Amino acid sequence: MNTPRIRRLALLVALLATAAPLSAQRLSGDVVPEHYTLWFAPDLDTATFRGDETIRIQLRGPATAITLHAAEIEFGEVTIEAAGRTQTARVTLDAAAETATLSVPLQIPAGEATVRITYAGTLNDKLRGFYLSRANGRSYAVTQMEPTDARRAFPSFDEPAYKATFEISMTIDEGDTGISNGAQLSDTPGSEPGTHTLSFATTPKMSTYLVAMLVGDFVCRSGEADGTPIRICSTPDKLGLTAYALEATQQQLAFYNDYFGIPYPFGKLDIIAVPDFSAGAMENSGAIIFRERLLLVDPERASIGSRKAVASIISHELAHQWFGNLVTMQWWNDIWLNEGFATWIASRPLGQWRPEWNVELDDASDTQRALGLDALRSTRAIRLAVDTPDEISEVFDGIAYEKTAGVLRMVEAFVGADLFRTGIASYLEKHAYGNATGEDFWNEMTRVTGRPVDRIMQAYIEQPGVPVITVSTQCSGSRTDVSLSQERFVETPDSSSPTGQTWTMPVCLKSTNSQLSCEMLDQRQQTRTASACEDIFANADGRGYYLTEYAPNAVRALARNPTGPSPIERVSLLGDEWWMVRSGRHEIGVYHDLAAALADDETTAVTEAITSRLAFTGTYLVESAQRANYQQWIRTRFGPALDALGLPGDPDDANERQSRRAELLALVGGTGDDAMVQRRARELAAAYIANPSSLPGTLVSTVLRVAAAGGNAELYDRYLEQLDGLAAEPEEYYRFFSALPSFSDPALVQRTLAFAMSPAVRTQDTATLIAGLLRRPASRGAAWTFVQAEWPTITQKLGTFQGIPGIIRAIGSFCSTDAAMQVAEFFRTNAVASAERTLRQALERIDNCAALVSRQSSALTSWLTATAR
Ligand SMILES: [Zn+2]
Repeated sequence: MNTPRIRRLALLVALLATAAPLSAQRLSGDVVPEHYTLWFAPDLDTATFRGDETIRIQLRGPATAITLHAAEIEFGEVTIEAAGRTQTARVTLDAAAETATLSVPLQIPAGEATVRITYAGTLNDKLRGFYLSRANGRSYAVTQMEPTDARRAFPSFDEPAYKATFEISMTIDEGDTGISNGAQLSDTPGSEPGTHTLSFATTPKMSTYLVAMLVGDFVCRSGEADGTPIRICSTPDKLGLTAYALEATQQQLAFYNDYFGIPYPFGKLDIIAVPDFSAGAMENSGAIIFRERLLLVDPERASIGSRKAVASIISHELAHQWFGNLVTMQWWNDIWLNEGFATWIASRPLGQWRPEWNVELDDASDTQRALGLDALRSTRAIRLAVDTPDEISEVFDGIAYEKTAGVLRMVEAFVGADLFRTGIASYLEKHAYGNATGEDFWNEMTRVTGRPVDRIMQAYIEQPGVPVITVSTQCSGSRTDVSLSQERFVETPDSSSPTGQTWTMPVCLKSTNSQLSCEMLDQRQQTRTASACEDIFANADGRGYYLTEYAPNAVRALARNPTGPSPIERVSLLGDEWWMVRSGRHEIGVYHDLAAALADDETTAVTEAITSRLAFTGTYLVESAQRANYQQWIRTRFGPALDALGLPGDPDDANERQSRRAELLALVGGTGDDAMVQRRARELAAAYIANPSSLPGTLVSTVLRVAAAGGNAELYDRYLEQLDGLAAEPEEYYRFFSALPSFSDPALVQRTLAFAMSPAVRTQDTATLIAGLLRRPASRGAAWTFVQAEWPTITQKLGTFQGIPGIIRAIGSFCSTDAAMQVAEFFRTNAVASAERTLRQALERIDNCAALVSRQSSALTSWLTATAR
C-alpha cells in the first residue's frame, strides 16, 4: 500500500480498535485453501451485500471442524462436502479472534473437501473490507482488504501464506459496471429484473488481502504495454484527468517487465481512482485502487510535486505486482519485503522516464524521513513479531517503507546495480506464486552476488535504530589517518538506552581529490588512510544508511569546499549535522553556519533540507527576545535567493527553479515573517482565485498557505467557496483544503475544527485538518482542547480508521514536559490499541523537543548575537 501523508506515503495506516484487545488468532495450518468461487450481490441502496462462496480445501488430517476467518458476516447455509458425503455444518463465531468454526457430526477424511457458505454482510462506512463510497449523488461499492479485512467480505483463510486462486462474479444493477482482479469474461442478465451478472477470469494463486471488487458507474481510458491491456478508471466526471496516469503506467509496466525479466503476471491491469479510500493506494493484483488526488491530475496545471507523486505511487503499486503479489511475505513480520522493496524501486522507472526530475534526491530525502523515526529510543526493528490486526496495521510505517528502502539502496550500491538486479530476478523466480521470508531474500542475494549481503541485512533488519559513525582525521605529512567508530544513535539517550549494538555496513569515504574504496565496517572502531591531507566525506553518494559525526570545523570546511560534497551528499550532510545538533553533540550554530553556506545552492532538495529545520528552529528554539533577530537573519541570508528567482517568476522556469522558489517563499514569508513577501503572497492568492492560470502550479500551495497565515475571515470564506466549485479537480481542491489549517485567527481555527467534523469533509480527510492544526503553534492549544473534548465523536467519525494514528503523530509535535504529561494522561483513559507504539513515539518526540529547547536555545542566542545582525 501507499499512504497519502507524505510524498510516497506508504499507506495504510493503522486501524483504530473499537473491540476488546484481540488475542492470537493464527490459523492452525491443518486446512489449506486451493480455490475460492465467490459470488457477490451488493445492494448499494441498503448498504448490504449477499455472498455465495465455495472453497476447495485440502485437509492435512481427518477433522470434524474447520476454522477460518470471518468478521461482521452473517452466516446462512453452510455445508462441507468430502468423499461423496455432504454435511450441514454448525457455525460457532469467535468475534474477538475474528474466526468462525464450522463443525460437522461425522469426521471429514484427510484430503480434498469443499466448503459452501451462503452469507450476508454490510457495505460499511469505515473504508475497510467491502465498503460504501459516495460521490456525485450516488453510491459505489469498493474494497480495501489489506491487511486483515478480506474476512469482512468473505469467510476466508485470511493470512498471506494461504495463497489460492479466485473465481469472482457479481450481480449488480443494470446501469453499473464492475471491476475485479481478473478480466471480465461474461456479462449476462441477472436472476432478478434490473440486474446483470459479471464474471471475471480466475486469478493466479494469490493472497486474500489482494482481492478487489468495485461497483459503480466507473469509466476508463484504455492503453497497453507489451501486450498487456491497461485501463485508468474514475467516476465519469474525472475521466479527463486520467491521461497522465496512463502514460506513466505504460512506461512503467514495460520497464518492470524488462527489469525483473518476468512478464507482468496478472493478465490485464486496471487502476481505479475512488472517491473514498483510507490508504493512498492499494496494489490489488490487476486492480490497483487509488485515492483520487494521487492518480488524477491535469499535467498542464499540476505542480511538479503532484506529477511526481502520481508517477511515483503508480510505480510503487506496480512494483508490488512482483514484490508482494507474485512473491508474498510469509507473514506480516516481513512486511518490509513488500513495502521496502516497492519504495526502493519506485524511482527507477521515473529516472528513465523523466531524468530531469533527479529522483535520486527524493530518495535521499526519504531516507532522512526514516531517520526521524529511527533516532527514537522507541523505534522498532524492521522485522518485528506481530500477531493481532492492531499490531499488523501498525507496522505499515516509515521503518517498513523508507528505512528498508534506504538499506536496500546501500546494499545495491555495495554489490553493484547489475548484480543486485540479477539477485532480485533470481529470488522472484524461485518463489513465484509462493511466499518468502527475509532469509530467503538475503540468502539468495548472497549466493548470487558472492558478497556478504546476509550479514548487512541481518544487522539492519533485526536490530532497531541507526548507527552513527564518528569520523576523526589526523593529517600527518602527505597522508590522512581516518578513524571510524560506530555506535547506535539516539537523540536523547536515557538509562534504558541500549549500548553495544554494532552493524555490519559498507562505508564509502570520499576525499577532495580521490574516492576511497568502499569497505565493510563491522568493528566498533576501524582506521583507514587517505593519500593526502584532505577533507573526508564519509558517506559517498549519500548511499549509506547511517549518520556521520564530524568535528565542527570539518563540517564548515566541507560546506566551503567547491569540489566537496555533491548535491545528494549535501542533503545527507545537512541531515547528519541536524541530528548532531538535536542530540547535543554539536551546538546549533554549526548547523546554521552550514545552512548559511548553502543558502544559494541551486538544488531544491538542499534548500528543502534547510527550510524544514530552520522552520523548526524558528518555531521551538528561538528565545522570544531573539525572535526578531532570527527572522532578520533568515530574510538577510535567504531573501536575496528568493529575489533572484522572482515572485511569481517566469512561468516557463524549469521544475527545479519552480520548486526551489516555493521552498524559499515558505522560508522567507513564513519563518522569516517578511511582510513584503506576505503581502505579495496575498496578492498572488487573490489573483489565482480570480484566474487559476495566473500562477505556475508548483507555486500555488505555498502561496495559498503563506497568504492564509495572516489571512482574515474574508480570505477564509474565499478559500471555502473554492472547495465547492472544485470537487471535480482533486489537486485544486486540496490546495485550498490543505491551506485551511494555516489560518491562525482563533475564530477561524474553530471554524476549521467544526468543518473537519462536518459531512462536507470526507472521512479520509478529516484527520488532515485536525493534524494540521495540532502541528501549528498558533492553533495547537485550541486543537488539543477540541480533540480531548470531542474524542468520542472523532473516533466515531473515523471509526477503525487510519486518521487516528495521524492525529497522534501530530500530537508528537508538542514541545513541553507539561504537554507530554497531559497527553500521556489523556491516552491512559483513551487508549488506542492500533497506535500504541505511535503514542510512545509521540511522547518521546515531545520530551525530545523539550530537552532540545533547554539544550540549544541559549546556544542559539549566543550564535545569533555573534553572527546575525
Ligand atoms: Zn506498498
